[in-house]
Amino acid sequence: MAQTDKTLLVVLGDQLSDRLRAFSSFDAVWMAEVLGESKHVWSSKIRTTLFLSAMRHFAEGLRDKGVEIHYRKLGEDPDCESLGESLCSFLEGSDFGRVRVTRPGDHRVLGELKAACLSAGVPLEVVEDDSFYSSAEDFAAHREGRKQLRMEYFYREMRKKHGVLMDADGKPTGGKWNFDASNRKPFGKGGPERLAPRLRFPPDEISREVIQDVDTALTGHPGELSHFDWPVTPSDALRALESFIENELPLFGAYQDAMWSGEPYLSHSLLASSINLKLLDPREVVDAAVAAYESGHAPIESVEGFVRQILGWREFVRGIYGAFMPEYLERNALGAREPLPSFYWDGETEMNCIREVVTQTMKYGYAHHIQRLMVTGLYALLHGVDPKEVHEWYLAVYVDAVEWVELPNTLGMSQYADGGVMASKPYVATGKYIKRMSNYCDGCQYNPDSRTGEDACPFTVLYWDFLNKHRTSLKGNPRMSMQLRNLDRLSQSDLEGIGEAARKIRTK
Ligand SMILES: Cc1cc2nc3c(=O)[nH]c(=O)nc-3n(C[C@H](O)[C@H](O)[C@H](O)COP(=O)(O)OP(=O)(O)OC[C@H]3O[C@@H](n4cnc5c(N)ncnc54)[C@H](O)[C@@H]3O)c2cc1C
Ligand code: SF4
Repeated sequence: MAQTDKTLLVVLGDQLSDRLRAFSSFDAVWMAEVLGESKHVWSSKIRTTLFLSAMRHFAEGLRDKGVEIHYRKLGEDPDCESLGESLCSFLEGSDFGRVRVTRPGDHRVLGELKAACLSAGVPLEVVEDDSFYSSAEDFAAHREGRKQLRMEYFYREMRKKHGVLMDADGKPTGGKWNFDASNRKPFGKGGPERLAPRLRFPPDEISREVIQDVDTALTGHPGELSHFDWPVTPSDALRALESFIENELPLFGAYQDAMWSGEPYLSHSLLASSINLKLLDPREVVDAAVAAYESGHAPIESVEGFVRQILGWREFVRGIYGAFMPEYLERNALGAREPLPSFYWDGETEMNCIREVVTQTMKYGYAHHIQRLMVTGLYALLHGVDPKEVHEWYLAVYVDAVEWVELPNTLGMSQYADGGVMASKPYVATGKYIKRMSNYCDGCQYNPDSRTGEDACPFTVLYWDFLNKHRTSLKGNPRMSMQLRNLDRLSQSDLEGIGEAARKIRTK
């Protein structure tokens, strides 16, 4: 078909905001639900449902505003499994002379869109994503002249640049940049107190239709659909934000790292999926938290801790992804080669902590940061699972999973596969850490204090085995010296016993 000068705006499933700069000029919008996006990793049904439901709601909102929209639902285009194929086939049958897109967060998707436009002979304009505080240039300027990248310093720069929690004299509000020394508390024996019922969002008609479509198209994929109740529109997401600020933020900091059986959400915000899909702007989330501090509703420890996650960690990991992809994906600094144990998909293991976290993950598509880092992530690291398999699991199972944020968190922070780009040392601990921060060990057949014998906790056995195996490469890291000194106290026969127990765990 002869091309005109009309511009087609491509909107991806995690670009659901017409406040993005790319929306400033276009003639029509194109959106597509393609099976390939749920199959390139074995995406859970709940994650796919969230994306598709939010997309259909967004498209409906655009239609109501009179926007011309070309939308392909799941299964409407059976010959095109991938986004690139679907776009290319659409362009070939249309007269659009230009394609515009907000820069995709995911490296793979940008490659697909470029190839599709090239093949259809239509130029592609990539508009920078202005929904973040920082740009690729900001991160490049931060990297300049630094041997090591650390979130804390980037975060301070962001606080100063954007005037967040800063006093008029240029000092950080409350006199400190970081209040974690007052946070990270475990619950007492009685567990969490004062948990208000969470505001949830039962499926409306559109979501119910998506649930049916996904159940049919993704038969056999992991995850349950009977509990789906995530925000799928900007107004839902805003209500979720307001409810979090009102009810949970005051306690967010103190118990941010604590875990408790049967309590998947505790005082966490559950906002990552809404922010990542752009139903919420990170600036409105940070502003709401800061306002809660200024009005005296929430203490500085909680507000600073929360703001750091978004203005610090979220922006920092995006910078890492942009700077180090695509080679980052191939990193495996510790040479880990074990396959991912099957209990990551079904929770069938005697390890109570893993069973709890995997079961809630498959039910709700959610686990909080410490559950991801210090239970499932820690176990995979100690077991020696291939980091790419670990990455694919995290990308598949969480409702907030998009590669630019998931990959540095998994490969870097949790698996140390990037050799220290994200984290200054591997996050390794024995089962005693899980015992201190949760009640999981109370209901477990293993003993976190034990590294030998029938009741030896697999985390504890594998921790010592990990240190012994990587002793040489970790020696140069001053932050590991105390852990390695403790290792030196073990006798040769202790180490042999641990090695044998670790082998048994890995082959079980
Ligand atoms: C192995 C691993 C994989 C992860 N994969 C993802 C992912 O796919 N998508 C994702 O958004 N986060 C990921 N995280 C970071 C973090 O665990 C989640 O953002 C958080 O648990 C989401 O729950 P919440 O919204 O209740 O967060 P809260 O605990 O309430 O935190 C508030 C917000 O801060 C941001 N945030 C917090 N920690 C991080 C972090 N480390 N990196 C980036 N942003 C952060 C999120 O936007 C989050 O909503 C991962 C962490 C680990 C250790
Ligand atoms: S004893 Fe070990 S395996 Fe069992 S819950 Fe505690 S840390 Fe997990």
